[in-house]
Amino acid sequence: MKYKSIRGTRDILPEEARKWQYLEKVAREIFQKYGYEEIRTPIFEVTELFQRSIGDDTDIVTKEMYTFLDKKGRSLTLRPEGTAGIIRAVIENNLYRQKRITRLYYLGAMYRYERPQKGRQREFYQIGAELIGPDNPASDIEIITLTLELFHVLGLKNLTLYLNSVGCPRCRARYRESLKDYFKDKIKMMCTDCQHRYSLNPMRILDCKEEGDRVYIEKSPKISDYLCQDCQEQFEKVKEYLHFLKIDYTLDPYMVRGLDYYTKAAFEIKYEGLGAQDTLAAGGRYDRLVHDLGGPDLPAVGFALGVERVMEVIDKEKISLPSGVQTDVYVATLGEEALKESIKLIRELRHENLKVLNDFNPTSLKAQLRQADKWKAKFVLIIGEEELSGKRATVKNMSTGGQESVPFSELKGYLLRNCS
Ligand code: ATP
Ligand code: MG
Repeated sequence: MKYKSIRGTRDILPEEARKWQYLEKVAREIFQKYGYEEIRTPIFEVTELFQRSIGDDTDIVTKEMYTFLDKKGRSLTLRPEGTAGIIRAVIENNLYRQKRITRLYYLGAMYRYERPQKGRQREFYQIGAELIGPDNPASDIEIITLTLELFHVLGLKNLTLYLNSVGCPRCRARYRESLKDYFKDKIKMMCTDCQHRYSLNPMRILDCKEEGDRVYIEKSPKISDYLCQDCQEQFEKVKEYLHFLKIDYTLDPYMVRGLDYYTKAAFEIKYEGLGAQDTLAAGGRYDRLVHDLGGPDLPAVGFALGVERVMEVIDKEKISLPSGVQTDVYVATLGEEALKESIKLIRELRHENLKVLNDFNPTSLKAQLRQADKWKAKFVLIIGEEELSGKRATVKNMSTGGQESVPFSELKGYLLRNCS
């Protein structure tokens, strides 16, 4: 093999793509009924946009971005996540002026230079939504319930909703000091990444995935003890509303999320049994991002799910998705004249929305019937010399094996009646 797909990327072959289409269809239907509209933003943006929003000392910005100079020497980056580009677009196009609340969703590829492993790729797909405008905790609940509904409709079970509040810059300043204090004598035993995090942004230590470091992290101070009154009240309301809706959740005081723009309530939905990469979806509130990117002071909340990870669970749980792979009609021809007649017939049948396939270099009838089988055809039309002169086709019903001779002029009606 001369060419191979790049490490950390993969091909979604037709059989898998069918499942993706189903997930996308379910997602679009749910977004639609919640009033979310699709937005499509560019795959690359100026690098600074991501530095500003995700945060200069996050793993994503320091290690994982696909950054390059274009031919004019401008620094551009393949989007590592969807929110920054969307908020940029919302501000640039004044979208927030049109309605009091902006509800947007997106589907697309994201790029992060991570170590490829199960559930972790360099090109991966996310489906996500942003709810821009409200700061009421009820809007956090909308995003959480939307995400849960999506998983529910797909038939996913064994999911756990984890919840934390990451506070606001005010509470984080105090929390940061207590973390510095706590880790002061432990940091030399921890990984080099954490040592950097200690001086740059100690809260990032909590996101470390090294087993050895987790022991220290599990005994560190909790942000819940440092929340300001406003953040505390917001978090209490989110929890109260979840109770009210009888939605179970588990508090995770050390969940900090990999992106700096989050404020207040943050959540993750995990599937127990997927190994280390078990977070299917994550999200939360980000009340300062719109302002930080040069827009008005608009609060927002959003989420994103990882398509590959969701697909893995669908396979693992053996959830069968509607397939829709049958072919209505396969047209088998014998000879040049029959092939010519067939292109007209095929065109007419496709106009009737029948799924019709054929072979362009037909060989024996036997070989064509084999192809028809592969395509799971319901009917095969056979057109040979005899059929041509009688202006009729032999119609073979592939499930019963029975054959009938049907005039060309009646084929459309016959097949429409029998294919539905
Ligand atoms: P993780 O902690 O697993 O690295 P994250 O905090 O970086 O996730 P987000 O940036 O919030 O994740 O992205 C939301 C979702 O996108 C994740 O929950 C996951 O399902 C998916 N995701 C993130 N990074 C990758 C990746 N490299 N490969 C595949 N899916 C990913
Ligand atoms: Mg990550």
